[in-house]
Amino acid sequence: MHHFAYRNGVLHCEDVSLEAVARELGTPAYVYSDATLRRHYSVLADAFANRNVLIAYAVKANSNLGVIATLAEMGAGADVVSGGELMKAMEAGVPANRIVFSGVAKTAEEMKIGLTRGIHQFNVESLPELHRLSKIASEMGKRAPIAFRVNPHVEAGGHAHISTGSAEHKFGIAWHEADAFYDEASRLPGIDPVGIAVHIGSQIMRVEQFRAAWEKVVALVRRLRDRGFAISRVDFGGGLGVPYKDGEDPDSPLVYANQARDVLGSLDVQLIFEPGRLIAGNAGVLISKVEYIKERDGRTFVILDAGMNDLMRPALYSAYHEVLPVRTPALGATRSPVDLVGPICESTDRFAKDRSMPPLHEGDLVAFMTAGAYGATLSSQYNSRPLVAEALVRGDACVVVRRRPTFDEMIALERAPDWIASG
Ligand SMILES: *Cc1c(COP(=O)(O)O)cnc(C)c1O
Repeated sequence: MHHFAYRNGVLHCEDVSLEAVARELGTPAYVYSDATLRRHYSVLADAFANRNVLIAYAVKANSNLGVIATLAEMGAGADVVSGGELMKAMEAGVPANRIVFSGVAKTAEEMKIGLTRGIHQFNVESLPELHRLSKIASEMGKRAPIAFRVNPHVEAGGHAHISTGSAEHKFGIAWHEADAFYDEASRLPGIDPVGIAVHIGSQIMRVEQFRAAWEKVVALVRRLRDRGFAISRVDFGGGLGVPYKDGEDPDSPLVYANQARDVLGSLDVQLIFEPGRLIAGNAGVLISKVEYIKERDGRTFVILDAGMNDLMRPALYSAYHEVLPVRTPALGATRSPVDLVGPICESTDRFAKDRSMPPLHEGDLVAFMTAGAYGATLSSQYNSRPLVAEALVRGDACVVVRRRPTFDEMIALERAPDWIASG
């Protein structure tokens, strides 16, 4: 469910025409829907209305300050994976005691920031990390609340590159090490072991795929409690999928919530979720303009002004995005197969091959649907293209929530060395 639809032949985000957004921001540009973000958050939050739950939005899905602030206003926490995300979450109004810090490589600096701010929990992924965190926390006179992220040795995820829960992946501590690691954690002066976490992958369509991992976590909680540990939190991670094309029908957040409730049974714990894609995925589109139509060797290349630097998912994961013309094609217009490509000097800068599209011409606008998650956050300046702009729409209001840098701004952080004779 989202709030992008045609009105009078023009694709709109809520009450704002995407043509108007393109006029105001230029292209390419991301456009997010406030109502869609809020709806997705509340569907999940309402499903747990009577439970002690923390919905920690996974900021890496879409870390725009406007997006985080919208969710923070609704009561969301944040799952962060870097010092930068932590600072952004706090800047956007997420209280420290709703922030979970994930990630395999937290630096000493990042740990200090988290400890100074008093975040809710560090999800620890290795013994060396545990020791570093304990040392830093005790030097600061603190104890860091931690959950171990366990690797449950299950296969799940919409693509090999977004699966994280099996032994070959770098994530988490081994399933069979958990008891020994909690023993170790309880001996360390700077550590307060309070929880257990899992996150097995992304774009998972069936909740049944989470069940084994969640059950392992619950069994571990019971065992650790029997052994005297005061485990008070379980973190079931993120990963529920969203539909990218017609016919894809992921299980609903309600089914997901029901399974969590079922697996937890009577266990009295704070339940934490870290949804990213589920919240932001179809709350955003990327609009782009057709620069050229090139016919060559029997193929038609529709060359867009958006590139893989603006939307990397197709190049990175062979991901599919539906691409819609912003203006509805004339009645009876015939579709034909085209390659949708960008301006970047890479062969992987291709969004779709042999995609059946209505007639497109120079200057036409198209929209990449379901681009709200892992879109702008994965963007870069490759080919020295200024970072893509982002707008947030609410009803008939449209706010630029990240403007495109000027060329001067893009260049400002760099300099030539002094030994180059300046002209
Ligand atoms: C990426 C990530 C998430 C969010 O995953 P989604 O598939 O976007 O819900 C949650 N937790 C951790 C630890 C992550 O790395």
